[in-house]
Amino acid sequence: MEKAIFIIKKGFNLFLEILFPSKCLSCHLRGIVLCDDCVNKLHLTERETASNVISLYDYRDPIVKESIWKLKYHKTPYIGQRFGQLLYKELIEEVSSLQIFSQGFPILVVPVPISHDKKKNRGYNQSEIIARSFCYSAEKSIFQLKNKTIVKKSNTIPQAKLTNRTRRLQNIKGAFELSVGASVKGKTIIIIDDVTTTGGTMLEMMKVLKKNGAKKVVGFAVAH
Ligand SMILES: [Zn+2]
Repeated sequence: MEKAIFIIKKGFNLFLEILFPSKCLSCHLRGIVLCDDCVNKLHLTERETASNVISLYDYRDPIVKESIWKLKYHKTPYIGQRFGQLLYKELIEEVSSLQIFSQGFPILVVPVPISHDKKKNRGYNQSEIIARSFCYSAEKSIFQLKNKTIVKKSNTIPQAKLTNRTRRLQNIKGAFELSVGASVKGKTIIIIDDVTTTGGTMLEMMKVLKKNGAKKVVGFAVAH
């Protein structure tokens, strides 16, 4: 079983590599989308976001900003794949403590959903690409990707269009619900997002998951 999963993971990576041969977005080195040297130069975020939400890079870093922008608007899922690997590598300590907390049961990984129209235009949900790669980065099957656990209910105004913090928080209120048949009772859950600003989206999702019996929910974001 483990071996089969490993082959699937390899196949998925190879598939992306053939479709989108990679080049470092910063130094243009061939073979990798963000090379290790350039990754080490990215600014880590020092700004606080909501409690139980951890973000990795500072969105004001030009390379971070450009990468996320390309991921969202330039049909470049391989950027999300790289961010998923980095998220796992950098937050390994948090993952370990969640593993202890979940007492050997798989940790559910839930990407932030996007609207049907957006997904159709973009071709993918970028958070789902990050989440999938995050899960595949673990050597053992400690995660279960659950991309249909939460659905976006109302057609809210895109958060990026709102600059005011209070309006952003109001806009997202009640926007999510648990999918029919999804079960999160007693589960340990990581929500994955590309960029978090107020943390409002993740907090709303946390509320829904907790209300439905999740034991512990944290949010990981690539940038803040
Ligand atoms: Zn580079």
